[in-house]
Amino acid sequence: MGQATDAKLSYQTLRGLVLRRSNWRDSDRIVTLLTMERGKVDVVLRGARKPKSPLLPAGEVFTLGEFVLYKGRGHEMATAFTLLDAYYPLRQDYHRLSFASLTLKAADGVAQKEAPEEHLFILLARTLARLAYGKKSPEEVTAAFLWHLCGIEGFRPDTAFCTLCKKSLENEEGAYLSASQDGIACEDCVEKPRKREWLSKNHLLWLKEVETAGIDRMESPLSVPLSPIVTYVEEHLGFRIMQ
Ligand SMILES: [Zn+2]
Repeated sequence: MGQATDAKLSYQTLRGLVLRRSNWRDSDRIVTLLTMERGKVDVVLRGARKPKSPLLPAGEVFTLGEFVLYKGRGHEMATAFTLLDAYYPLRQDYHRLSFASLTLKAADGVAQKEAPEEHLFILLARTLARLAYGKKSPEEVTAAFLWHLCGIEGFRPDTAFCTLCKKSLENEEGAYLSASQDGIACEDCVEKPRKREWLSKNHLLWLKEVETAGIDRMESPLSVPLSPIVTYVEEHLGFRIMQ
């Protein structure tokens, strides 16, 4: 990553993924990028709504590119942009797009401004590629994404034990991923058994395997129910990510 600084000018080249955008003035956009080095960064794209602007593609969500940023006294601006991936197939498949939107929202919710987000950036870029180009179901890819996100953010429970009584879940049929009890609750410990928070033994094993082997190496196309994981993440974020 090139970086040049002198007393008056400050340029920086950053790889960024567009999480959000809004219009600004007559023909500009403001985008929120996720970057490895600086977490979330708000950038003005001057003239990016003009049809012939070289910054036009930089103003779209789900765009990965290299941004040359200039920081003067006011807003940080992009002066040049190179497209790396537009994840184009997502834009033609509403089903996949809705899952991609969910992952973007969750990443936006946990990422900090001006704090490195290397793991989250890599996770999100790979997830969007899997959703756009991969053969795995979007539900499975999204479940794996959210489980990794819980790990990065430090609120992922161990699937082998009940969080509350520490009992091994090896001989149980399953357990509840309980947001209100902040972890995995066995049948004895769960306060309000909700069916939508239930994960069977196989689901728990699947999540463990995602953690250790990664989704690309998983062979069983098990359909893990998304709702317990989505609810769990939403509870930690304090807002909804599912449409
Ligand atoms: Zn327990």
